[in-house]
Amino acid sequence: MTHPNQTPKPAWNSEARPARLEERLDDDVVRCHLSPRNCRIRPGQHGFCRVRANRDGRLVTLNYGRSVHATEETIETEAVFHYAPGARILSMGNIGCMLNCDYCHNWKTSQARYVEDKDVHHYTPREVVDIAVRHGIRVISWTYNDPVVWHEFVVETAALARAAGIVNLYKSALFITAEAVEELLPVIDIFSVSIKSLDPAYYRRITKGRLEPVLEATEQVFRAGKHVEVSTLMVTDLSDDEKTARAMAAFVGERLSPDVPTHFVRFHPDYKMTHTVRTPVDRLEKARGTALGMGLRHVYLGNVYDTDATDTRCRACGRLQITRYGLNADLVGIDADARCTGCGDHTGITLLPDARPRERVRDLPPGQDLSVAGFDWHGDVRALHFQLRNTSGAPVRAYARRLGGAGADRSWEVIDLAPHESFRSIAAKSTPGETGVQVAVDHTCESTLHQVFDRAHFPTVEATAGTLNADVSPLPLFVRDASRNSRPDTPRSPRP
Ligand code: SF4
Repeated sequence: MTHPNQTPKPAWNSEARPARLEERLDDDVVRCHLSPRNCRIRPGQHGFCRVRANRDGRLVTLNYGRSVHATEETIETEAVFHYAPGARILSMGNIGCMLNCDYCHNWKTSQARYVEDKDVHHYTPREVVDIAVRHGIRVISWTYNDPVVWHEFVVETAALARAAGIVNLYKSALFITAEAVEELLPVIDIFSVSIKSLDPAYYRRITKGRLEPVLEATEQVFRAGKHVEVSTLMVTDLSDDEKTARAMAAFVGERLSPDVPTHFVRFHPDYKMTHTVRTPVDRLEKARGTALGMGLRHVYLGNVYDTDATDTRCRACGRLQITRYGLNADLVGIDADARCTGCGDHTGITLLPDARPRERVRDLPPGQDLSVAGFDWHGDVRALHFQLRNTSGAPVRAYARRLGGAGADRSWEVIDLAPHESFRSIAAKSTPGETGVQVAVDHTCESTLHQVFDRAHFPTVEATAGTLNADVSPLPLFVRDASRNSRPDTPRSPRP
């Protein structure tokens, strides 16, 4: 949606800032030591990620503070199950990536050539921290495309967040150099590592990166005492097999620890891989059984509903401790000291009390002229981003609630918006019987809805743009432009 009173923004990559991890070579050439690509960049050119470049013989970053819309989600969105279960997080994603995975579900922002200025927001470190504080959020998640290529902004903002008592979560493929990891360690608390494959040849072919630096960086953050969880995407007919399960279990068990939570994640067709189907759930279940059989203690499935393979049980007595549905978690067998309520064994889970839970009201305030927008869960679309923008110079209240389900809490959650604030939040189906969500705003507030496909997906298209193929893969669909032969592929605009 275009807002008529907004001034046009400059191109997202129009501002260059000095970059860290620079090596200066002869003839004004620079080498970048952020990711293991170690791009050698001549003056006027950019690296593989297209967000780091050589300007006048110096390495610069082009995406400092350039982000998709800051979004409130839950920590389960990031494949983190053993740290602050159910916590609200503030997700920050940027532009560019040091990889180019054939199935990327954030390709509209990870592949810089496809980025549109309308999807890019500008933030300062202070603004990011202020959003989290204002909404009572205790965790900032550096996520979506990949935080590695946002290094300068992440390091600076994470330090500021830490000083404000906020925890930092780094959700990444972790294709990163050891020296860059060293700069993250003082400010990042949680690493959720997406290991695309344990097969070096597959890794190179599908991601255009290399596997071993990822494994080394994962070990590096684990040995540094950080909270680590790992996940792998089980791509239909490519990696959803016994071999992947065994390799993953061997890596976690031997190079990390059997206690490291491990997630096998269901794939959906996207980007250059739309010619296939979602991962059959029985293959995920089998992989989980294999990894548990090899000694891992906590193995979960991702992007899968109606299964107990997302629940947490006590390692000692088997008691149910956390139930999960989609991106929601309920603590049912853990006490305030993170001990099992059955046997008293410590769960190894870090608890983080919500700083300030949102206020709830039973009914919408009478006498206020509110318009209500509804969204029904359908097919595989069981999560939604709703974006609210307060167009007035006064604080305003917006409301959101869930619909359907026996015994469901039908009260409205209150979202307080500061003057002129734009805020985005996720609603994810929380029970099997839930049918949808409603959002209520007054005339000073604009709202847009965006269908979310699976976790850590940032949708750029409004739900009203259509539901083409909506139960299989998100809009916009990617299509190859055959007329351009070897030239870069182009995205297809969403249908009206
Ligand atoms: S971050 Fe990686 S891909 Fe980008 S310029 Fe540096 S080495 Fe190259």
